[in-house]
Amino acid sequence: MPDLTPEEFRRLGHRYVDWVADHRAGIDDLPVRDDVVPGSVRSRFGPEASDGAQPLDALLPLVDDVVASADTRWQHPGFHAFFPANASLTSLLGEILSTGLGAQGMLWSTSPACTEVEQAVTDQLARALGLPEAFTHDGGGGGVIQDSASSAALVALLAALHRRSAATGGPAWRETGVTGTERVYVTAETHSSLAKSARVAGLGERGLRTVPFSPGTRTMDPAALADMLRADTADGLTPVLVCPTVGTTGTGAVDPVRDVARVARPHGAWVHVDAAWAGIAALCPEHRHLVDGVGLADSFCTNAHKWMLTAFDASLMWVRDARSLPAALSITPVFLRDKASDSGAVVDYRDWQVPLGRRFRALKLWAVLHGHGLDGLREHVRGHVRMAADLAERVRTHPGLELAAPPSLGLVCLRTTEGDDATRVLLEHVNASGRALLSHTEIDGRYVIRVAFGSLGTTDRHVDELWALLSGS
Ligand SMILES: *Cc1c(COP(=O)(O)O)cnc(C)c1O
Repeated sequence: MPDLTPEEFRRLGHRYVDWVADHRAGIDDLPVRDDVVPGSVRSRFGPEASDGAQPLDALLPLVDDVVASADTRWQHPGFHAFFPANASLTSLLGEILSTGLGAQGMLWSTSPACTEVEQAVTDQLARALGLPEAFTHDGGGGGVIQDSASSAALVALLAALHRRSAATGGPAWRETGVTGTERVYVTAETHSSLAKSARVAGLGERGLRTVPFSPGTRTMDPAALADMLRADTADGLTPVLVCPTVGTTGTGAVDPVRDVARVARPHGAWVHVDAAWAGIAALCPEHRHLVDGVGLADSFCTNAHKWMLTAFDASLMWVRDARSLPAALSITPVFLRDKASDSGAVVDYRDWQVPLGRRFRALKLWAVLHGHGLDGLREHVRGHVRMAADLAERVRTHPGLELAAPPSLGLVCLRTTEGDDATRVLLEHVNASGRALLSHTEIDGRYVIRVAFGSLGTTDRHVDELWALLSGS
């Protein structure tokens, strides 16, 4: 028998689901992060896999044993590091269906359901976020689920390179590659995935231009961008892509998308809005301003796998022109030729991403939308925003602590009034407690603690616990 029978799967599956349910039920009683000696997990494994099969019932106790003391528990309600990555149990049910089907949605015809559920839910989500209708499949653009925001940035850059070379009437980028003059515009707060995209696309470090902040802010200065674009163009360089960020990873700063796009467009640069973390908040009418000006952009990305209750990976990307990604990425060998594709009536998502094969990720999004409703998602976001406001208020009134940047949605950046060493010691103190996990950044060369509220199950009690650790009360 090469696999479990469906009946064996049913029996074991119940046990495995129980394991996950028990893990989640007890997670608050475990430390957020275990203290792990490098190599200690690997050393539990022998050098060779065993030739003989063993019963799958026996795997769970082994997993318990090996993982129990060597994990960083991303689903812990005390996890406030980086940006939390929600893997809701609701989305897990969708994952089971998706992996259970085992479909490969590279072409429409290899799984029409995979493609069309994705089109349907990305259209629904575009409208729920307040994106212009042009970004929907109905409106001539469309959404796609990438594995990560990094991939979204990369394919946006590839589409930008293609569009730019096509516009110049010279040889197409996809035939000749880059010329060395292409430039991408970011700020010092832009996520490192843009630098990586520039590297992967062959632009190298010199391809990246860092636009200064507007005075007194950490957001892209549109006037400085305009000066840079003019000067670069005069120098024979080619502005290819400008990336405003909505909710930077360091401090949650929001670049002025509308003004940046107005400046970038006349230069023929593609505008990619990176809202990987914060974009989800636009589900709430009171945060709708986050997508202001996105109608002037070419692409927009936000991660359902950060704040929208959806297990990694599910990065939502929308483009204003449905042809833009296929124009840059489509390569059709004979074995992928297909009547439905040739008809032009369908979307083949392989042309919207780097890999050929793709998972049926839309099922877990559908499960989340179905099981929580937009109201449930809004409530999830609002709870964290309220916790951040609460923590920021406590920091403001504490003599030994100060805010290092204005709080942004669920993110609070703080430091001690006694300098970097004291701030670092405080962070280590909180993290060593096992009750909360925080991360850090640097602002103007100074060490800063980041508290990112966004985990499942975080309650006011967890905020109180964190505050006791931070304030020494
Ligand atoms: C987290 C984050 C990213 C990277 O997200 P991945 O999906 O892990 O690639 C990019 N940009 C911003 C602003 C982020 O917060």
